[in-house]
Amino acid sequence: MKVENIKKICVVGAGNMGHQISLLCAIHGYKTTCTDVVPEILKKAEKFADTYLPGRVEKGKMTKDVAAAARQNISFTPDLKEAAKEADFVIEAATEILDLKRKIFADLDKCAPAQAIFATNSSYLVSSLIADATKRPSQVVNMHFFNPALVMKLVEVVKGPHVSDETAKATMDLCEKLEKIPVLLKKEVEGFLLNRIFRVIGREALWMLEMGIATAEDIDKACVFGAGHPMGPFRLMDLTGIDLNYIRSLERFKETGNRADLPSPSVVERYIKGNYGEKTGKGWYDYTKK
Ligand code: NAD
Repeated sequence: MKVENIKKICVVGAGNMGHQISLLCAIHGYKTTCTDVVPEILKKAEKFADTYLPGRVEKGKMTKDVAAAARQNISFTPDLKEAAKEADFVIEAATEILDLKRKIFADLDKCAPAQAIFATNSSYLVSSLIADATKRPSQVVNMHFFNPALVMKLVEVVKGPHVSDETAKATMDLCEKLEKIPVLLKKEVEGFLLNRIFRVIGREALWMLEMGIATAEDIDKACVFGAGHPMGPFRLMDLTGIDLNYIRSLERFKETGNRADLPSPSVVERYIKGNYGEKTGKGWYDYTKK
């Protein structure tokens, strides 16, 4: 598959990442189908498209024609088969659970065209853990967007040992078509480039908080005003989802058996209460008061 042949994109998962990735593809001229197993999430994604596009026009950031074409390009369906049946490229942005992703890829393999490339937006899982769930491992690749996907420029593309040169090139080229800045990882490593760096910062931040050394707010301030980060690790976790941090830490613990990989007590406390961050209104910060 070459980038010129990519016309239709299917995005699996319409959550935090999927709703923006699908709209990004639609804005850049791709016929995009977005699918999710939760109908309310799909409705929310559609509503987002219906408010985001006119909002951009109003702000003078997008022409009326581009917005209208993008809205025409995007459709939403709960039916994976329907969403994937004509796709040239699939981007999976479903919950960060390996077995779930393997199941999605196995299902996709049965309903998407044989030449289609399957990319996973996983934050940590390398695609070789998933590729053998399909009969097309050389067409399964990591394509890791950052949150919010409509804004953040970086995309990490990981060329695992099973990934063909053609698949890696088409994925890098697609990133450019989507006006992103792709970086290529020549070898697989869990967590890729940036999340490995952020994990070290996040762990240290949680340790300092739990030791009572400083508040989450002050640790965030240190990163923003001392290191020039756009936001501190607690604010970032609220944006990316405390649930994602919790699930990922547990999955990592299952892989390594290292107790240091278990979710931190303060993360567990928020996870149990359903305080996942911005998306639920509360996390490290309270968003309900705004
Ligand atoms: P999310 O929980 O907001 O969304 C995941 C969506 O997947 C949910 O809406 C869920 O209903 C849906 N889903 C679950 N099973 C499905 C299935 N079988 N078919 C279709 N949809 C299904 O999670 P998210 O934050 O959007 O993360 C999605 C992926 O993107 C994860 O792999 C995550 O690691 C990765 N990611 C997340 C971020 C972030 O900041 N949140 C950044 C980069 C990458």
